[in-house]
Amino acid sequence: MTTLTVRDLHVSYGPVQALRGVNLKVDEGAIVSIIGANGAGKTTLLNTLSGIVKPRSGSILLHGRPLPGRACNILREGMAHVPEGRKIFAGFTIEENLKAGAYIVHDKQLVETRRDAMYARFPILAQRSQQQAGTLSGGEQQMLAIARGLMSDPELILLDEPSLGLAPLVVKSVFELIREIRDRHGKTILLVEQNAQKALALCDYAYVLENGRIVLEGPGRELLNDPAIRKAYLGGA
Ligand code: ATP
Repeated sequence: MTTLTVRDLHVSYGPVQALRGVNLKVDEGAIVSIIGANGAGKTTLLNTLSGIVKPRSGSILLHGRPLPGRACNILREGMAHVPEGRKIFAGFTIEENLKAGAYIVHDKQLVETRRDAMYARFPILAQRSQQQAGTLSGGEQQMLAIARGLMSDPELILLDEPSLGLAPLVVKSVFELIREIRDRHGKTILLVEQNAQKALALCDYAYVLENGRIVLEGPGRELLNDPAIRKAYLGGA
């Protein structure tokens, strides 16, 4: 079953055309990657899907139905966004950050149950629950950003550059976490990454975005072995 369908999506910032007719789909339970260089339009795509940026034209369908216009309603429909640069609330405690992720949930007991599940999965967040989130390391902040994204129990998670700026060992654990979220928690994932090697090795299907257009698509493993991709995105290795 298809969870998300994007058709002929165009987005502009004034005269800058950031997306020029993007088409893609994300099947239920899949990990789908978008790879591309700086400025290709990856963040614009995710920001448009989550309602932060308004498209000029095109359609976005979740389970075949048009997405609601407002970000909070998109979250209610089951699509959560873990933004580029984590965007945790540095001056708030870890606990407050987690609760912010469930702002659409009014049942306090349910929020606490979900928070406890996050603490069980991420003991470092439990140990430091009352500390300011800004005191966490980059990798821990990424864990918190993902945990916050899970607090609304979304069906589909949009992850924007989760490996950005992290040490190689931490990157490895972030990618393992993404796989776990799909395999153990049954989530569908749309992952935007500059780390093409790791993203293609992890995902079921990938799209290559260049200058606002999808120029290539296919199963991750196939793209990993594509000579053009190796040359352009994998250092020719
Ligand atoms: P990066 O990996 O560097 O974040 P990206 O692939 O996510 O790159 P976007 O950030 O989506 O790319 O940018 C796509 C294009 O839109 C770029 O040309 C960028 O300069 C432009 N752009 C992005 N945000 C804005 C904005 N708020 N106002 C004007 N132009 C913007």
